[in-house]
Amino acid sequence: MASVIRVSRSIVGPNEADAVSRVLLEDGYLGMGSEVLSFERELAAFLSIDASKVCCVNSGTAALHLAVEASVDAGDEVLVQSLTFISSFQAISAARAVPVACEVRSGSATIDLEDAARRLTSRTRAIMPVHYASYPHDLEAVYAFAATHKLRVIEDAAHAFGTQHQGKYIGHQGDIVCFSFDGIKNITCGEGGAIVSHDVDVLARVRDARLLGIEKDSDKRYRGQRSWDFQASKQGYRYHMSNIMAAIGRVQLRRLPTEFGPHRVNLARRYRENLAREAQIRFLETSLAEVIPHIQPILVSNGKRDLVRDALQHDGIETGIHYKPNHLLKLYGEGSERLPITEQMYGELLSLPLHPGVTTEHVDGVCVVVQRTLNQQSSVAS
Ligand SMILES: *Cc1c(COP(=O)(O)O)cnc(C)c1O
Repeated sequence: MASVIRVSRSIVGPNEADAVSRVLLEDGYLGMGSEVLSFERELAAFLSIDASKVCCVNSGTAALHLAVEASVDAGDEVLVQSLTFISSFQAISAARAVPVACEVRSGSATIDLEDAARRLTSRTRAIMPVHYASYPHDLEAVYAFAATHKLRVIEDAAHAFGTQHQGKYIGHQGDIVCFSFDGIKNITCGEGGAIVSHDVDVLARVRDARLLGIEKDSDKRYRGQRSWDFQASKQGYRYHMSNIMAAIGRVQLRRLPTEFGPHRVNLARRYRENLAREAQIRFLETSLAEVIPHIQPILVSNGKRDLVRDALQHDGIETGIHYKPNHLLKLYGEGSERLPITEQMYGELLSLPLHPGVTTEHVDGVCVVVQRTLNQQSSVAS
């Protein structure tokens, strides 16, 4: 019996282990220190931006939370697609702002700006586009919408580290861009995240807020020191990244362009080639010349998603459903408002295994099961 093929995972190896043991055994400074500074500099170099624009934290959710808190006030409304990880919504409500659930475009699972426009109120202050499956679709339109309505833009780029848009990396420009380096993302720190901004006020806020609001402590931490006589004037959190996490991330960052990126793209192409002629399956729009896909969603029509899911499960192939729409959760209205496109997609979405441990042979095997299941059903039905 073959082992289970997982839907998502990151690949860490001896180089990451060596980097961690160097921090543990040689450096001995485990918290936020020089390793974090190095990681921030290397992320900035990767994105071709100044190192001062990158602020590492201990999760993608923490990045989003600090980004929202730095850019809107309590009670302000933030437009966000319902079809996203609960993290996007929790980050907004944690900042005591109000997430306003919007529809997605069915073609790309990115925010539907026409729907978002109908939800504007006098309290709307920001929009949070989610680069679903790493594809930002028409990001210029989001920024134009924000400019028209005087909104901040907080990009949830948790899926999209390493992805390019019109020749530039996500994070190279924009207002505030948040990445996740959790255990299954395009690169991992174990857990981790980063805020990238081009606004010096936001940067100053999030740098202090990640260290319990202690003002201007980051530079001391990078040198292995800390402030004893300090000032704090705003709420902060224990959200800084540790040297251990940064050491893992630095190795992963080097592996992304040569190893993980091309591998993920190859697998995504293979899925599309194999299933291109399957009428009951739809793929989302993407641009594999620029995107490093974090997940591989397909949409299965005719109510057959769960059938396909069960058949794959039976053959030891794990799948996912990205995501349960947030407007259906108790915390966010429990479906008191209907979002028909989002709900329809929720019934059809199925994420197939995609990570650097998956091979093209695995992909072929997965596709055989998918096609067999769909065609068996149609012959029974006919
Ligand atoms: C992973 C993820 C996050 C949160 O990142 P964590 O590092 O897990 O906290 C936020 N939004 C989306 C869309 C994600 O996939």
